[in-house]
Amino acid sequence: MTDAILEIDDLDVYYGKSHALKGVSLSIGEGEIYGVIGPNGAGKTTMLNAIAGFVDYDGTVRYDGTDLAAVRPQRIVRDGLVYCTEDRDLFPYFSVHENLLMGAQFRDDRDGVRADLDMVYELFPRLDERREQEAETMSGGEQQMLAVGRALMSGPDVLMLDEPTLGLAPVIIQDIGAALETLQAQTGLTILLAEQNATFALTHADRLSLIETGEIELSGTHGEFHDNEYVREAYVGVH
Ligand code: ATP
Repeated sequence: MTDAILEIDDLDVYYGKSHALKGVSLSIGEGEIYGVIGPNGAGKTTMLNAIAGFVDYDGTVRYDGTDLAAVRPQRIVRDGLVYCTEDRDLFPYFSVHENLLMGAQFRDDRDGVRADLDMVYELFPRLDERREQEAETMSGGEQQMLAVGRALMSGPDVLMLDEPTLGLAPVIIQDIGAALETLQAQTGLTILLAEQNATFALTHADRLSLIETGEIELSGTHGEFHDNEYVREAYVGVH
């Protein structure tokens, strides 16, 4: 692993009395795709919400060497840690193009924004073909591409994706996976991917962790996960 860009140390989250995350620690290297897999309700979203500053936690989240405890969520995004939630949060009556521009609303580097727009349209030709279409009329897969595209327009160094394949057709899932690998190869983007679809995460992640009932049960390389009998039996091909 290269230098860690995102370090999560001993993270605990409670919802009332319910202990949703139990001492979770992860270290994500610059430029890697890191997959967090686990069943429904395991705590994947809670972990991403904690990193983004959306829920209170005990423990430490360090991004690019800075402890995020006292950093406001909007500042975290401006600093390049960008979160694409499971709900996608698109502006339904805005066009594809307008949604993408909304992703760049905090940026003042106009040349960079223009270059990133070109990059997003090249990455997702379906968005290019539908620049003027309203977001709410797009298919589920196209909306997911738009959500990723909009997150990219914020100029992230680290992109957190929650369940990007949820409910999508296999051919679209392939397109999204290919886009993530292109981004990693061409831009050096670091990606933290939370997925119930273990097959997808295993196909694209360099390293992974398995989370069950709020605890990390296993962390390892792509190869270690691929060869792990428990992972194969309990998760691969099941989603
Ligand atoms: P999924 O894949 O279904 O989204 P997940 O692994 O992302 O699952 P979380 O959404 O993080 O899991 O949920 C972890 C646990 O915390 C679950 O038991 C869930 O019911 C609970 N939980 C999540 N959000 C809240 C909340 N706002 N208030 C109370 N409990 C919550």
